[in-house]
Order: sequence, then C-alpha cells, then structure tokens
Amino acid sequence: MLVLDGKETARKIREELQKELAGIYKKDLRPAALAVILVGEDPASEVYVRNKEKACADVGIVSKSYKLAENTSQEELESVIDVLNNDENIDGILLQLPLPKSLNAEKCLEKIAVHKDVDGFHPENIGKLVLGLPAFKSCTPAGIMNLLERYNLSVSGKKAVVVGRSNIVGKPLALLLQQTGAFANATVTVCHSGTSNLEEECRSADFLFVAMGKPAFIKGHMVKDGAVVIDVGIHRTENGLVGDCDYAEISKKASAMTPVPGGVGPMTIAQLLVNTVSAYKKHVL
Ligand code: NDP
Repeated sequence: MLVLDGKETARKIREELQKELAGIYKKDLRPAALAVILVGEDPASEVYVRNKEKACADVGIVSKSYKLAENTSQEELESVIDVLNNDENIDGILLQLPLPKSLNAEKCLEKIAVHKDVDGFHPENIGKLVLGLPAFKSCTPAGIMNLLERYNLSVSGKKAVVVGRSNIVGKPLALLLQQTGAFANATVTVCHSGTSNLEEECRSADFLFVAMGKPAFIKGHMVKDGAVVIDVGIHRTENGLVGDCDYAEISKKASAMTPVPGGVGPMTIAQLLVNTVSAYKKHVL
C-alpha cells in the first residue's frame, strides 16, 4: 500500500514557497504577514498555533500572534479583527477555533475581510466555492486535494464518499471534489449521522474521505479493495495520535492511505501558507 506522506509533501510545498518569497523579497517589498488570533488557553489550540507560527517562519512569512484572555468579549474580539482588517501590512487573518463558548464564532468569521480570509471560512469565500469561482479554499479540504494531485491520484470519474458534513471539512471537501477539472470531477456522496447505510456507502467508494471525529471508527470491512483512503481525524489516545480510520485493518485493503499523524494535518498547515502567500501577492504585486 502506498502511504500518502503529508509530512514530506508539506515540506516540499514549504520549500517551494520559501523560494518564491525569497524571489519576491529581492524587490524590496514588505514581507508577507499572517495574524493569528487565539482566545483562551485551550492546550490543543496552543499547539496548533505554535505549529502554524513555526511553518510561517520556515518560509519567510511574518506571523503576529494576538493572544486574548478567555473572558474577552465579542466586541473586543471584533475590534481586534477590525484593526487587522485595516492594517495594510497584514495579508491573512486566522482566528483559531474553537472559541470559548461565550463568543459567536460565525459573527467573528464574517467580520474578517474576505481578501484576508486565508482559512476560507467567510460565507463569501464558501459561496464562491459553491459557484466554482476563485476564492480562498478551506485549508484542510484544499490540502487534501493538493496531496492527491501531488501523488497523481485523480478522482475524476470516480466515486468519492465523504463521511462528515462539517463546514470546515466535509462540506467544502465535497464541493472541491465535484468541481470540474482534471483532479476533481468526482461523483460525490456525503454521509453523516443520518445516513442509514454507512457501511455500504463506504464500501462503494473508490476514494473514501473520513472526517467524523470518531477514533478508529472506519474498519477494514467498510473499505473496498484497492480504495484510496484519506483519514482527516485526529485523536489523542493512550497509544498516541490516531485517526478516524483503523489504520492496521484498512492498510491491508486500501491501495493508498494517509497516516495519522503525518497525513492530512501537515497538508492543512501547508495550505494555510499557500493561501497566505496568494493573499500577499494580490496585496503587494
Ligand atoms: P465535526 O464534529 O464538526 O463533524 C463530524 C461529522 O461526522 C458530522 O457531520 C457528523 O454528522 C459526522 N458523523 C459523526 N458520527 C457519525 C457516524 N456515526 N456516522 C456518520 N457520520 C457521523 O468534525 P470536523 O469535521 O471538524 O472534524 C472531523 C475530524 O477531523 C476530527 O477528528 C477533527 O479533530 C479532525 N480535523 C483534522 C484536521 C486536520 O488538519 N487533520 C482539521 C480539522 C479537523 P452530523 O452532521 O449528522 O452530526
């Protein structure tokens, strides 16, 4: 079975971006900059933010962190977003989710300027994705499409099944898979907790994408022989990080699969860098 190595692919993407930015910086332009807002002290979010900051530094993007207290009000958070929207030295704004329960994440995401929405969560960017118009694409789904393309695995004409319909993974991934183009053009089925025949749907997939947030839920018997399996899930367990798929069982049946860790996670961060560099080029070139 082919292991789809997101860690190595992400490293190559960072190398490419680093070279591209070094070329642009020779023109004496200001550096690309990403603002990262973290509210509260969720340890997992702190790790994600640190990883994103490190990835930015690797390629030459300046990252500016805004660490706000757990009891930050909606107005305070929105005013930080406003300041960053109007700062012409900032190219991208990332609001680390989840927010503390007292805050309205949707309202905050709508507040981010569309041209700085490098996470691709603004309703206008999602709407453009639906219409197939150029837009910032959510990092996890776009990172997955990028990984498949770099392994020359095309979903075109194939049956793709997406398990999960979240706004940040399942829905935008289903939209990307059904767009026209050589590395899209799939026939897509989206499954969720209301799906009555999940096992059968999964077994029908040439390409199975799992983003359900349930550790090792998808077993070997739910996968077609030779399928390509993309595991988005991340769970911290006593035995280390595991995904939504039972890797040991599925790796005996799949033709290619992403590991956890080292699969989709690094590609998500790489895509954030791709989106930030794309915003930067639109702002300065
Ligand atoms: P959500 O909890 O928002 O969504 C889970 C989806 O799975 C829902 O649509 C839910 O259905 C569906 N689901 C849950 N249980 C079942 C079931 N038994 N049968 C069928 N469908 C089911 O999760 P996210 O999309 O945010 O994340 C999914 C996983 O991916 C998590 O483990 C998360 O940590 C990980 N993740 C990883 C990222 C990375 O970079 N690698 C990035 C983002 C997330 P319903 O809508 O009906 O409730």
